[in-house]
Amino acid sequence: MKRTHIEDLQKGEEATIKGWVNIRRDHGKLIFIDLRDATGRVQMVVLPEHKEAGKIAETIRPEWIIEVEGVVNERPEKMRKDEQNGDIEIEAKKITVISEAETPPFEISENTGEINEETRLKYRYLDLRSERMQKNIKVRSEFIQKCREYLFKQKFTEIETPILTESTPEGSRDFVVPARLHPGKFYALPQSPQQYKQLLMVAGFERYFQLARAVRDEDLRADRGFEHTQVDIETSFVNQSDVLDLIEGMMVEVVESMGYTIKEKPFPRITYKEAMEKYGADKFDLRTEEDKEKGILAYAWVVDFPFFEKTDSGKWTFSHNPFSMPKEEHIEDLLKGENIENIITQQYDLVCNGFESGGGSIRSHRTDVLKAVYKVMGYSEEETEERIGHMLEAFKYGVPPHGGIALGVERNIMNLTNESYLREVQSFPMTRGGQTSVMKAPKELTPEQLAELHLRIDKENK
Ligand code: ASP
Repeated sequence: MKRTHIEDLQKGEEATIKGWVNIRRDHGKLIFIDLRDATGRVQMVVLPEHKEAGKIAETIRPEWIIEVEGVVNERPEKMRKDEQNGDIEIEAKKITVISEAETPPFEISENTGEINEETRLKYRYLDLRSERMQKNIKVRSEFIQKCREYLFKQKFTEIETPILTESTPEGSRDFVVPARLHPGKFYALPQSPQQYKQLLMVAGFERYFQLARAVRDEDLRADRGFEHTQVDIETSFVNQSDVLDLIEGMMVEVVESMGYTIKEKPFPRITYKEAMEKYGADKFDLRTEEDKEKGILAYAWVVDFPFFEKTDSGKWTFSHNPFSMPKEEHIEDLLKGENIENIITQQYDLVCNGFESGGGSIRSHRTDVLKAVYKVMGYSEEETEERIGHMLEAFKYGVPPHGGIALGVERNIMNLTNESYLREVQSFPMTRGGQTSVMKAPKELTPEQLAELHLRIDKENK
């Protein structure tokens, strides 16, 4: 018989279901088994009259995969439960074992959040079977699907950009990849598709988005890993409030259609200066204790960030994004290299429940402005050319005014699922020490691989 998913079971019908044994309970003559598949869970009962099924039921253990043929009965009134399929049970007539399983290193039917990280990640495929992890990963998928739907409705084109690219000035350390065909040269993994998405505006696409992987070699924290995914967006012929309206429209549609409540609409818009005065930080939580209990989402925009900040060595560097555009009234100062500390940029951050859920800017599409930014940061004309010459060149061929944003998928899902750690919303996260789950990276290369890549390992520094 054709397989029925657990969420589609109908009272009174015969059904064949396939899935994982969650728990088996022996009640003398009766054996109860809770069976799980990707769509839910159901209780089945093996009655003494179904002898063959009973014999098999006695042997099966948690996490075995079985096939069950039976009939969907209504549960006796006093046995009903207020949960998925709490009013039905399957009377199992035939059970077939599909795959036996060893006893897992931890209880999958429990909350796995408390289990030692190393064990959880070594056996991540088992951890992912747990109810909470299945839910979190599905919330993530739903969020992404809804963002996509919204953006397609708004006439965006989804475009992929390269993974092997040039080291870019996004402000963090790069992960690099040796180029076999170019001894001594390296690709870098993208810290963000920033420059490509701007080039796509030069290319005339006007509305781009991508579910982009971004890779940064930063110190790992609870809410920051080496890799993350962002809903990366860029659009032409817009000003700042156009972008804020567009993104706000998306967030409202996406999270409300997923059943969440937003505290305040339109999202409050406050300047960086006000935020610092009022909350002492540019990320703040507008929820009351009661809002927190109800799972309410409190979004706000922070705007008007200082363009530059001082580095430890006393030089100027960009605070957010070197490609952003100063406010109209500050362009003159930037071009003259005056009043640097007071230059405000058209950068905006989306804050939600105390965290940065996204950030972007209107870009500087004028080459004189872009060059002036690099000059303030102490680059010579040659150095600027070396870094962003390709952008300056591209902009010579006609560039529309443009701006965009990147929304951090993990950060947003952590807010939606009320999780505090990145590893709860990624399928195969790394350990705090930067070790991959299940697989064994980073690891050494063979001497042959090293030779092919023209690399020699400095043994003394190993
Ligand atoms: N490139 C920025 C980032 O990855 C986002 C943006 O300005 O669009 O954080």
